[in-house]
Amino acid sequence: MNKTDKELIAPCGMYCGVCSSFLARKNDVKSKGVRAPYCAGCRASARKCAWLKKRCKPLLENKIKYCFECPSYPCVKLSHIDKRYRTLFHMSFIQNLDYVKNNGEEKFLKKIVKEWKCPKCGGAICCHNGVCYSCGIEKFKKKKKLYRWE
Ligand SMILES: [Zn+2]
Repeated sequence: MNKTDKELIAPCGMYCGVCSSFLARKNDVKSKGVRAPYCAGCRASARKCAWLKKRCKPLLENKIKYCFECPSYPCVKLSHIDKRYRTLFHMSFIQNLDYVKNNGEEKFLKKIVKEWKCPKCGGAICCHNGVCYSCGIEKFKKKKKLYRWE
């Protein structure tokens, strides 16, 4: 477990290791003829995340590391994206955050990596569409919508 792995847990509870933009960059899908945005992860790229950070003062000013440290946790904005992810992308930010809070970052990483491990190659399955960007690149090429499961 190194620092970089922990950086993949976003303040909102998103696990960047299963995000389409992170996996696209990691597997360099552009070189394989697939167009997709690239991202190194929310923390690594210090990106002002479009969902929460732009509209959240404690996150914007780096007053908290994770949303669960906030007195408003879970706020309306977080609950909204949590619902979206539970519905479309098989993951709950709030559940992830509670797990980190109660069990620590290392245990969370072990659990989440196992949950999203590709049974064929051991790579990571993308939560945004259910495709493994490592061995499923042909499947990926045929996808019409990047952010939809089949
Ligand atoms: Zn795979």
